[in-house]
Amino acid sequence: MSVFISPSVQFTALNILTVTLLLSRCCDANRKLLVFLIDGFRYDYIDDLQNLAGFREIVENGVKVDYMTPDFPSLSYPNYYSLMTGRYCEVHQMTGNFMWDKDTMKEFLIGTNPDSRLPMWWDGSEPLWVTMQKLGKRVYMYYWPGCEVTILGVRPTFCEEYVYNPSEKNLTDSMESALNMLKSDKADMAGIYYEKIDVEGHHFGPRSPEIQRAIRSLDQAFQILHQKIKEKNMRDDINVVLFSDHGMTELKWMEKVIELDKYIDMSHIVKMMDRGPVVSVWPKQDKFEEIYRNLSSVDNMNVYKKQEIPHRFHYKNGRFVSTLTLVAEPGWFITENKAKLPFWNNGTEKAVGWQHGWHGYDNEFMDMRGFFLAQGPDFKTNFRAGPIRTVDVYNVLCKALGIEPLPNNGSWSRVECMLRSSAGAVRAALIYSFLLLLLLLPH
Ligand SMILES: [Zn+2]
Repeated sequence: MSVFISPSVQFTALNILTVTLLLSRCCDANRKLLVFLIDGFRYDYIDDLQNLAGFREIVENGVKVDYMTPDFPSLSYPNYYSLMTGRYCEVHQMTGNFMWDKDTMKEFLIGTNPDSRLPMWWDGSEPLWVTMQKLGKRVYMYYWPGCEVTILGVRPTFCEEYVYNPSEKNLTDSMESALNMLKSDKADMAGIYYEKIDVEGHHFGPRSPEIQRAIRSLDQAFQILHQKIKEKNMRDDINVVLFSDHGMTELKWMEKVIELDKYIDMSHIVKMMDRGPVVSVWPKQDKFEEIYRNLSSVDNMNVYKKQEIPHRFHYKNGRFVSTLTLVAEPGWFITENKAKLPFWNNGTEKAVGWQHGWHGYDNEFMDMRGFFLAQGPDFKTNFRAGPIRTVDVYNVLCKALGIEPLPNNGSWSRVECMLRSSAGAVRAALIYSFLLLLLLLPH
C-alpha cells in the first residue's frame, strides 16, 4: 500500500524541517566570545551559591560541569596551554612553570623572564588566539599569560601584558573594554585573566576566610558583567565561558617537607627546576642510577625515570621533561633544603602566607580539580554537565566561535551535551518535524 502526500503538505513539512534544523543549528560564526581564565579556582568554591549572585546567574542561565580535571602537572602554564590548544602537555610541550632546555641551556621561568618568550617554549602547538588571527579574526587579551609572546609568528590584535596579580579594577576595566570591543566589532573574541584566587589560595589556603572574600569580590565583578551585557543589549550576541587551570589543596608544609639534600649529594645534580609537588631533576650521567636509587627510598614521593612516568599523565614525551621527575604525595612539598626557600622564615607577611595552599600534584587528586561555566545563546540553560578535562575546553570554544578545531586530545562526547547544537537537538528536530508531517497527512 502506498501513501499519497499532497505536494502542498510535502512543501509545508519541508519548510518546517528546514526552519527547525536552522533553529537547532549552533554557533553563528559572527557571534562573539568572552573567556575568563580564573587561576586556581577549585571546582567546589561555588558549591554554595547562596551568597554568590553573579555565579548563580551564570549557573541558572547556562552550563555548569561537575568539575574539570586538569592536565598533569596541575600547574598553571601547562594548563593554560592545554586549555587553549586542546592538547596534552607532552603534545604542546609546555610541561612546567619552570622548564630547562638542556641543548641551549635556556630557562623558562613563570612570570616575566625574557628567555620565557623564546619561540621554543610556545611553538609546540598553535593556541586558539593564533588560529583566530590567522583566520583574519581579531582577539583582545587582558593580562593573559603569553599574549605578549609572538607564537608561530603571530600576536593577538591587542594584549594588555600580564602583571603579577591584576587588581579588581584591572578586572572590571578589562570587562568594560572587552565588551566595547566585541560590541563594536573590533574584536571577535576576548580573553581576560585573573590571578587573585590562586594568590589567596597559596597564601591562606583553600578553606580560609580570605579565599571566601576573594570569591565574593570576584562574584561582584560578575554581577557587574551581567549588568553591562544587559545594558549594552548583548545577551543574544555573546557567549561567556569561565574556567580555571587547576584547584588548590591545604598545605601544612612546616610538617610535610621533603628535603632532597638529606638523601642525595646535590653537587651530583646538573640541574633542578621548580620546588613543590613536582620537581624536575637532571643528575650527572655517571651518578644517575645512584641518585635514582636514593630518591626511590624517600617516603611520600614518587621518582620516575622519563620513560617510566605513568602514561595517564600524558607527560613523559615532552621535549623539556627531565631525566628524573619527582612527584610528591598530596600535601607534601619537595625542596632541596628548607633554608634555601626564599619564603622560609624570612618574617614577611607574604612569605608566611605561602605555607597554606599549593597545587601541581597528581591531576586525579580531587583538590586539583578546576571549574567550568558557560552562558550564552549557544549554550543550554540551567544545564548540569558531567566532569570534563582541561583538553576538552578547546573544542567548546572553537564550536562557539564557529571555527574548525585543529587536531587535539579533547573528547567531543564529553562536551557536546552542553551546546544547543548537539546531535541530540538535531535528532529532536527531526523527530519533531516527522511528527508534524504525520499530523499534516490526510487522515
Ligand atoms: Zn598557583
